[in-house]
Amino acid sequence: MEEPVFDPRELGPDDEIVFACHPGVPCFNRCCYDVHLVLSPYDFLRLRRALGVSPQELIERYGEAYIGEVTQLPVVAIKMNPYDFACPFLKPEGCSVYPDRPSACRTYPLARYLREDPETGKRREVYRIIRETHCKGHYEKRTIRVRDFVREQGLEPYLRFNDLFGEVVARRQAHAETPLTADQLDLIFLALYDLPRFREEALSGRLEVPDLEDPAGVSDEDLLEAGIRFVLERVLIFD
Ligand code: SF4
Ligand code: SF4
Repeated sequence: MEEPVFDPRELGPDDEIVFACHPGVPCFNRCCYDVHLVLSPYDFLRLRRALGVSPQELIERYGEAYIGEVTQLPVVAIKMNPYDFACPFLKPEGCSVYPDRPSACRTYPLARYLREDPETGKRREVYRIIRETHCKGHYEKRTIRVRDFVREQGLEPYLRFNDLFGEVVARRQAHAETPLTADQLDLIFLALYDLPRFREEALSGRLEVPDLEDPAGVSDEDLLEAGIRFVLERVLIFD
């Protein structure tokens, strides 16, 4: 896998980038090979729903689940085909899950960070451009503001959920020296990835989920939000 190079310049949402990706670029789909494609909980929900499969089927058919070395949390990633290293969703005509492709596929060629102002405590978005030599999109003559690129790529709901999930990662990393029990890891997987079973557990009353009044009727999105808050408020508790 080619090592990406980051432009040193930091960009804000109103800065402009020169980039376009479309079926006419000579490298079309080259970036869909040999990718370490980790799914955030919202990526996982969108893909699972688009494919019409259960969480277990998605992992068994297309992915792998493990405990992340850095996050020490359950991680789900898409497994590349073993013979050509292509993403399993890549078809000759392009990405077969394009409307529900993961956030990493939407964000490229940008990397996004949240930086906290030490005085106000407010977080602001910072972007940097990633350059990989195979990517010819940087030579396309299209200028677009970062904020418009984010909108064009349908990233807004992904960023909202990924930022919320970022609080889970930050909480875990702040207590990285405390091992999680098997029960904690099971609950985290349940609430972030196995939403059908999380819904059942909440419905049956076996799990008390704060702020979830109607487990049967709530949308998948609201259920995931409740799941992330459940992990923050009930599972990742460190004395
Ligand atoms: S999900 Fe789609 S866009 Fe992303 S790597 Fe796979 S084929 Fe490419
Ligand atoms: S390598 Fe760059 S320009 Fe080519 S398909 Fe991927 S993102 Fe688009």
